[in-house]
Amino acid sequence: MGCTKDTKLCNWGKIAPLKPCCIDHLKELLLYTDRLFKEHEISYWLDYGTLLGLYRDKGIIVYDDDVDCSIDIKYTDRITQFAKQVENDGYVLDSSNKDVVQRIFYSETNKLHIDIFTFKLNNNVMESQYKPMYDFLVEYIEPMGTIECWGNELPAPNDIPKFLTMRYGEDYMTPRKQYKGPVRREAHDAKNLI
Ligand SMILES: [Zn+2]
Repeated sequence: MGCTKDTKLCNWGKIAPLKPCCIDHLKELLLYTDRLFKEHEISYWLDYGTLLGLYRDKGIIVYDDDVDCSIDIKYTDRITQFAKQVENDGYVLDSSNKDVVQRIFYSETNKLHIDIFTFKLNNNVMESQYKPMYDFLVEYIEPMGTIECWGNELPAPNDIPKFLTMRYGEDYMTPRKQYKGPVRREAHDAKNLI
């Protein structure tokens, strides 16, 4: 058994480790988004807990509840135009907060999703349109690196250990029950480094 497109996700309304079905659906969403973006020549990179999980645990962190990637804001409006294609492919695109984050849901009922966060280049800083604390130097994605993801090479920052240290602190390799702790590095630190 397990959740499907016609049911709510397994942990709806509660905090619990992801069930295998939910992990499978998140994996499917991630690989689907990769194909979609490659087809439309949209550059993106894996980010936040998804990057951490793939690097550290070789998979999705079981206390995570979504998968995360990021894009340059120049692609935002193009993605909004994919709604019909995404629907035809059986998923749901939500662009209602497009300048900050767009989402692809597993289905209308099952709200497992991938977040597509937006960053805007300003000098050599990628400025998060979500929270300034997530800003980072563009050199992490120029050139883009890769990370192995279930046999696929997906785009990622080019120095993942350094990037994860910036995002999560020196002890990022030590799993926490909730990875979404305070992020140490602030935007203004990054800018001061220039
Ligand atoms: Zn499930």
